[in-house]
Amino acid sequence: MVMKVDKNKCIGCGACVSICPDVFELKDGKASVKSKKECPDSVDACPVNAISKV
Ligand code: SF4
Repeated sequence: MVMKVDKNKCIGCGACVSICPDVFELKDGKASVKSKKECPDSVDACPVNAISKV
C-alpha cells in the first residue's frame, strides 16, 4: 500500500506535508508522493479528499 494524490483535486494546502514530511512534498503547488511509506492520517487530514491508499 502506498499513498496516492489526485492532483486534480489537490489545492496545495500542505497539510499532508506537515503530517508526513517524509512521504509528501509540495511540487509546483501540488502535493507529490516521494516515498512508499504509509501515512493513513493524511487521508482524513486532506480538506478536499485528494489522498487515497493504493
Ligand atoms: S492535504 Fe490534500 S489538498 Fe493539501 S496539499 Fe495534501 S493532497 Fe493537497
